[in-house]
Amino acid sequence: MENFFAKPAPSYTFEIFPPKGNKSTEGTYAVIDSLVSFNPDLISVTYGAGGSSRDNTVEIASGIQNKYNVCGVAHLTCVGTTRENIREILNRLKSNGVRNILALRGDLKDKSDLGDFHHASELISFIKNEFGNDFDVFAACYPEKHPEAKSVEEDLIHLKEKCDLGVKGLISQLFFDNDIFCEWRERARAMGVTQPIIAGIMPITSASQIEKVVEMCGASVPERVRRFVNTYGHHQGAVKEAGIAYATEQIIDLLARDVEGIHLYTMNQADTVRRIDAGIRSVLYTKRYAVRSN
Ligand code: FAD
Repeated sequence: MENFFAKPAPSYTFEIFPPKGNKSTEGTYAVIDSLVSFNPDLISVTYGAGGSSRDNTVEIASGIQNKYNVCGVAHLTCVGTTRENIREILNRLKSNGVRNILALRGDLKDKSDLGDFHHASELISFIKNEFGNDFDVFAACYPEKHPEAKSVEEDLIHLKEKCDLGVKGLISQLFFDNDIFCEWRERARAMGVTQPIIAGIMPITSASQIEKVVEMCGASVPERVRRFVNTYGHHQGAVKEAGIAYATEQIIDLLARDVEGIHLYTMNQADTVRRIDAGIRSVLYTKRYAVRSN
């Protein structure tokens, strides 16, 4: 079985979302067919809020693992659910050979309905107590702090708590400003976070997307990004071109700054990934295998 943590850094990973409810998984598998050709170290599958795509997450993460022999990571949120429910999903993942979980709280819609878990740390403890080392657990981290946290410091204290429970890797919220990420990474390291921190990159492919993203996670938008969205946003092809170029440059710079991994939020757009991949491949492999030409 593929072991993500035995692979050389920097890692190169993708995130996809599954279809909702009873919708066919055929289209998602067509996307995965393309994505695996870029040789990712893992593909993670999101989990709909409140478990709305739960069965599809389990099925597709298993398919990635078993049909493609690529590490499949199942996202798992715990808000509003029970221990029994989580145990059942974990048992299904285990019997399907999925070894990697991204353990998340999920977004709070109604604070009165938290269920058995209040924070991702409680889910991580549960996984460790009930399943020992059956799963390698990833957790989320936030270079610009989680929107609910009062400060970066407070958020990092809770991140360290998650790490101390046995998390093996961290995947970051998306960000557009590499300086912010690198400064935050320094602070995380100073607090004793030693796990690999994989940088989450979302290419901008439409003007409406950036508004939604900023509202969802509060990411800072550099002036340069605002400018290209304002200038080209009315033209789908043009803004996508500019967004792909920006994400490509962002990744090249992060690799030069010794990032431990790049996680592309693909939005299931294999063509966008193909274009970014073409722009970063030799840089990624040079960094990974320290190829030097004199
Ligand atoms: P937590 O780690 O619990 O943190 C949430 C907040 O609580 C933070 O402000 C933290 O500082 C604080 N906190 C943590 N522990 C404590 C404590 N013990 N006491 C007090 N405060 C505490 N959502 C989905 O629904 N489905 C997905 O598939 C999904 N995938 C994601 C993938 C990535 C890479 C990321 C970054 C996010 C993803 N999310 C997803 C969103 C995520 O569920 C939300 O950001 C959610 O609000 C927080 O989840 P968390 O696991 O970071 O929570």
